[in-house]
Amino acid sequence: MSTLAGVVGFPVAHSRSPQMHEAAYRALGLDWRYVKLAVPPARFVDTVGALPGSGYRGVNVTIPHKVAALQLADASTAAAAAIGAANTLTFADGVEADNTDAGGLIDALPAGRRSAEGARALVLGAGGAARAVVWALRESGASEVSVWNRTPERARALARELDVHRVGRPGPADLLVNATAVGLDVALKEADVLELLGLSGLAPAAIVVDLVYGDGPTHLARWAERGGAAVVDGIDVLVCQGARSFERWTGHAAPISVMREAARALPQSRIGDSPFRP
Ligand code: NAP
Repeated sequence: MSTLAGVVGFPVAHSRSPQMHEAAYRALGLDWRYVKLAVPPARFVDTVGALPGSGYRGVNVTIPHKVAALQLADASTAAAAAIGAANTLTFADGVEADNTDAGGLIDALPAGRRSAEGARALVLGAGGAARAVVWALRESGASEVSVWNRTPERARALARELDVHRVGRPGPADLLVNATAVGLDVALKEADVLELLGLSGLAPAAIVVDLVYGDGPTHLARWAERGGAAVVDGIDVLVCQGARSFERWTGHAAPISVMREAARALPQSRIGDSPFRP
């Protein structure tokens, strides 16, 4: 029987993780399968509890389960504990929680950098993704990490908790990360996106990371590229976090270029979701 891995979310139909991980298994000749598991919050704990006995080695966890995933684990990495959320569960002696979104962001930085050492970093957003980004940048040696958010109280709370600065409006930085959901709405124009993110009239940072991804470059990525920035898109980050999960579960080095090519293809999942029936 194949070894199983998967992604648990609700909804999860949009996920590109299955195509990315399955391409990696094929490239390495591994008898593994990666399954999409659409699990509502009320079923999350019971469902995860049943997975190790059903042949699963681990799962990625996405919205809205990342906090619950950490809470149910028997052990957690320093990253997951500090961020307060997990995106990777590994089933070994009990359930181990990790947060590979953080390390994945650093791995995705342009070649020759792969660290935020000495950078003045500005993070837009104060939700779950922003927490992982702020922690990763701080741990990676950024000289300063600032957080801006539409709802200032959330930025203030995040900054206090992770011991970084909160800013009332975005300003110049060496490294800018969009960790908001702005950009998902394809009806928006570039000027709208810049306005919503408080970036109108600013020049892009030298490195711009946009966690949001779709079928092509986002408005923010286009703006950054025109301004001469090195752009890291949401798929680059997705691939790097997925590679870390892959290595943790299989013990093999992840075939990054294979995973990147697969993740950039249109999701086969557009055709439909595969609800999990335990
Ligand atoms: P979340 O917890 O729901 O947080 C959403 C954030 O977006 C909040 O800071 C929210 O601000 C802000 N926001 C939403 N609509 C806005 C608007 N119209 N104007 C200004 N700010 C707005 O979501 P999340 O889990 O952090 O995810 C954020 C984004 O990152 C999503 O697009 C997600 O797909 C992406 N992501 C990508 C990866 C990857 O691997 N590429 C991994 C994780 C997440 P308020 O606090 O003011 O509501």
